Amino acid sequence: MRCVYCRARAGLLRRTCPTCARVIAIVDKTAGNVGFQTLVDIFKAEGLTKEQVDRVLDAHIGQGASIRDRLTSQMTNALMRGLGMPGRQSPDDVKRVRESMNSSSAQGTYSQGEEPPPGAH
Ligand SMILES: [Zn+2]
Repeated sequence: MRCVYCRARAGLLRRTCPTCARVIAIVDKTAGNVGFQTLVDIFKAEGLTKEQVDRVLDAHIGQGASIRDRLTSQMTNALMRGLGMPGRQSPDDVKRVRESMNSSSAQGTYSQGEEPPPGAH
């Protein structure tokens, strides 16, 4: 079978190759406990490249939310609970917000954080 994330040969009965399986194992172990930057540092320490990590995190298996959406919702909820709010954002909520942001930024106004043109004020 081929890896569902990167299409590399995974083995006879495996749906993920060893590399992608390692990414998933790290995510499962740390999810909700560390911030995204810490997670990136762990991936680096494990010798995984950004490409190897990104293709797993951004893969959409079937119709579900990606792992990145799941992580974002877990981190957002942890943050909100830390601020005393309920924190009930689901991975699908994250996916919807991300998709709506993508479509609005495609309409060609200034993207977030971009400086206004000189002399505009
Ligand atoms: Zn793979």
